[in-house]
Amino acid sequence: MSEVFRAERDCLAGLGLLASTHIRFDPELKTRGAASHAYGFNVHCLVVDNSDGEVLALERNRIHADSNPLQHAEQVGIRAAMARLHEKRPREVGTPVEKYYKNSLFMSPGTAPEDFFNRGCTLYNTFDPCGMCAVTLLVCYMERIAYLFDNATFATVYDDMRKYFRGRDSIKEPLALLEDGDDNPLRKGSRLIRETREKVKHLEESGTPLMTTLDRCRDELQQAALLLIETEIDHLITAGEERERNLRTLHGIKRLCNIN
Ligand SMILES: [Zn+2]
Repeated sequence: MSEVFRAERDCLAGLGLLASTHIRFDPELKTRGAASHAYGFNVHCLVVDNSDGEVLALERNRIHADSNPLQHAEQVGIRAAMARLHEKRPREVGTPVEKYYKNSLFMSPGTAPEDFFNRGCTLYNTFDPCGMCAVTLLVCYMERIAYLFDNATFATVYDDMRKYFRGRDSIKEPLALLEDGDDNPLRKGSRLIRETREKVKHLEESGTPLMTTLDRCRDELQQAALLLIETEIDHLITAGEERERNLRTLHGIKRLCNIN
């Protein structure tokens, strides 16, 4: 059942990233000499605690809003999630700080395939992270990184840089999707994500800069938001404890998207 659990949660996160982009859409500014967007690129990031499904952060790229080119979605998301983890799992007296970073924040020991979505945290991002963020994710001991859309420019940086960082039992991969099928909004959402992946790929091949491809996917962003609104507990395919965790993730995403 773990594969379904992973795909269901990844689909919730994928819809959450697209819905958040719809709700907080930052239109491209066409005025000559102006920044491309008021806030930054339409790139969003979501961090989930794998152990209990809590959504620790949902943030966006803010490079222009903050006049700070470091404010990529992942950077903002990591720092917000870190603050929440410091509250949620404070370092106990007698635990060395290095051990705390490695075992109690974004990473937790274990290298079995299911450990990557049952322990530590997952950072979900709109695109495969850039070089700066790939290294940041190694530095901060993120257990799992899952992204909606490929980014060929930086695809290999994470694994290339891994050799400089010891003890990172982590994984980076495209987020998993559910099989197509009935009218379940999560299965429809998986289909929508597959179609949007094709569209983004096509737009990039036709010359649209990757970071602005979602500016041309307004209908798909709106559909994702509508599917997320429609998704209720009865649509979850998982059972028992896995269902409880994914329900917590669903509620967290909806709350942070202000849709309930
Ligand atoms: Zn980045």
